[in-house]
Amino acid sequence: MAFVLASVPAPGQTAAPAATSSPVQLRVFDASLVDKTVDPCDNFYRFSCNGWFKRNPLPADQARYGRFTELSELNRLHMRQILEAAAVPASARNANQPPRSANEQKIGDEYASCMDTSAVNRLALTPLKPELERIAALQSPAGLPALLAHLHAMGVKAFFGMGSSEDFADASAVISFYNAGGLGLPERDYYTRTDAKSEELRRQYVAHVRNLFTLAGEPEPQAAHDAETVLALETRLAKASLTITEQRDPQNLNHPTDVASFSKTLTHFSLADYAAAAHAPAAGKMNDSEPKFFAEFNALVADTPMDAIRAYLRWHLLHAFAGTSLPESFDRENWNFYAHILNGAQKEQERWKRCTSRVDMEMGEALGQVYVAKYFPPAEKQRTLEMTLAIEQAMDKDIDALDWMSAATKVKAKEKLHGVMNKIGYPDKWRDYTNIEIVRGDALGNQMRAHQFEFARDLAKIGKPVDKGEWEMTPPTVNAYYDPQMNNVNFPAGYLQPPFFSGLEDDAANYGDMGSTIGHELTHGFDDEGRQFDKQGNLKNWWTAEDEKKFNERAECMVKQYDAIEAVPGVHLNGKLTLGENLADLGGLWLAWLSWLDKADAAHQDMTATMDGYTPDQRFWIAYAQQWCTQTRPEQLRSQALGDEHAPDEYRTNTVLQDLPEFAKSFSCKKTAPMVNPKPCRVW
Ligand SMILES: [Zn+2]
Repeated sequence: MAFVLASVPAPGQTAAPAATSSPVQLRVFDASLVDKTVDPCDNFYRFSCNGWFKRNPLPADQARYGRFTELSELNRLHMRQILEAAAVPASARNANQPPRSANEQKIGDEYASCMDTSAVNRLALTPLKPELERIAALQSPAGLPALLAHLHAMGVKAFFGMGSSEDFADASAVISFYNAGGLGLPERDYYTRTDAKSEELRRQYVAHVRNLFTLAGEPEPQAAHDAETVLALETRLAKASLTITEQRDPQNLNHPTDVASFSKTLTHFSLADYAAAAHAPAAGKMNDSEPKFFAEFNALVADTPMDAIRAYLRWHLLHAFAGTSLPESFDRENWNFYAHILNGAQKEQERWKRCTSRVDMEMGEALGQVYVAKYFPPAEKQRTLEMTLAIEQAMDKDIDALDWMSAATKVKAKEKLHGVMNKIGYPDKWRDYTNIEIVRGDALGNQMRAHQFEFARDLAKIGKPVDKGEWEMTPPTVNAYYDPQMNNVNFPAGYLQPPFFSGLEDDAANYGDMGSTIGHELTHGFDDEGRQFDKQGNLKNWWTAEDEKKFNERAECMVKQYDAIEAVPGVHLNGKLTLGENLADLGGLWLAWLSWLDKADAAHQDMTATMDGYTPDQRFWIAYAQQWCTQTRPEQLRSQALGDEHAPDEYRTNTVLQDLPEFAKSFSCKKTAPMVNPKPCRVW
């Protein structure tokens, strides 16, 4: 479980930015991006970002392009250099190229295999044939558990998900988790909404499933029939699943049981067979995240014709490998639905970018180890740590100052704050990839084996003490997260650089930008979801009833505030879904502000002296806003408004600042200005 700073498009679904041959100088605070024709009290986002918008037209392969993608693109170029050097085989290396390490051999060969489209096209469906035959041989529900375990291990996301996670009641213990899943559309409401646009999307989805079946050799009438079957079956699973808003409350997902009891509820699906084939525990404590879903799954197995189940499994098998492991015709069809139709991208992302992402996803710490050695100076780690400690200190003081929280809850809040572990850059101990077998020229087999490795690695954690040093993001990632069950904040190396942080720029810029992110991640420990976990990461209430009530009243102000925003015509933001992120944005920026004021005060900074035409406090707010400059296609904006826990970037800027009178003061905004909320919301 993790609360991330920004949503990143799923690999193979949304494209990444166009390559810039000569990367521009990225700055944390950039006065040249400011549009002085816009009144900062009218629309601060436009004021701070219009210059960036002018310089950065949305690339054709993008659904969304902002500062995060701008830096991701630069990191991707760096990863490409590493991978291209590692891809040179022993036989072709010259005297200046040292022999490849075991890790370099694996990431280099995997990259080369992914790039080798002629091999991928030549092999076509041959590597999947044994799997298609297994599915074709499934004659009764009795064979489903072993087959499903086999498919899950190779990354086929059919019916449900199974893996390891910390026990909600005891975060030091790792147990098995069975989760709802099995959908090809982004989330359950895509199957249930009745508006015209949603109905059209479902028709387009069915056409996509049919096209994949046809590409795989099914005759047309059969393919069309099977695609309708897939939609019907997934709709049934969707209706039994929690909504994404319901999933945000950990109480809704907390159903501790043991494998034996769970097994008894699945009367038509042998959990023993599944566990044996998956090499998963056949006994012991576990969590059934969504009992209603599993009850429906059980019923479905009993009453669904086998040819429908086979069609469904065939679809998920093809879907799992359609990205870079199957011929270009599959790849193109996959792009057309997920990147173009769903999110509006106009052009397919170049192959090298997708292959770089793929290696980063499969063996991110092998690639990341080389990446940090080359691109992450140790001094950056130290600077980030100092800033994190300063912001934790600001939070400590701010808790003292809260007028709505009782002394008893304050003590607990501080205990939790002081228990937060700071993880910066990369893991202390690197993941061991010895057991992944990478065969040059076998892209599909490699994808399968990489998933099998990860599946086994994940399950091996069950029953062992939790490893708090483990990372959920790879080192080159441009993002950050808070993990409520580990009570730690995580800032990957890939993020700790301009335009988010720079040792060459002043504190106002760095605190406004990366300081607000550090504050954001810390605040997640105290948002509507995170606050339910204690300092050890256990799901255990440490609030007095009165304080809880006051928290909820304050949070409700923000729910209403974001519910009122119409992001695209007819689609409002979901205040409850985005509440945790909105709380973290507002609380985080406030903490960064307090922390920076302390720092400026200690340094006797002249708060009236201007630089590039702006006072230090103005630069603080502009740096905050400039991290969110983002161009977004309407299709993507719609997807985001419907399903993303993060509000679109314009609101992550303007709506947050409207709640801070300190911002209005810095720009002398009138009380009636659009950038001033007359009744500001505030929790932290
Ligand atoms: Zn967040």
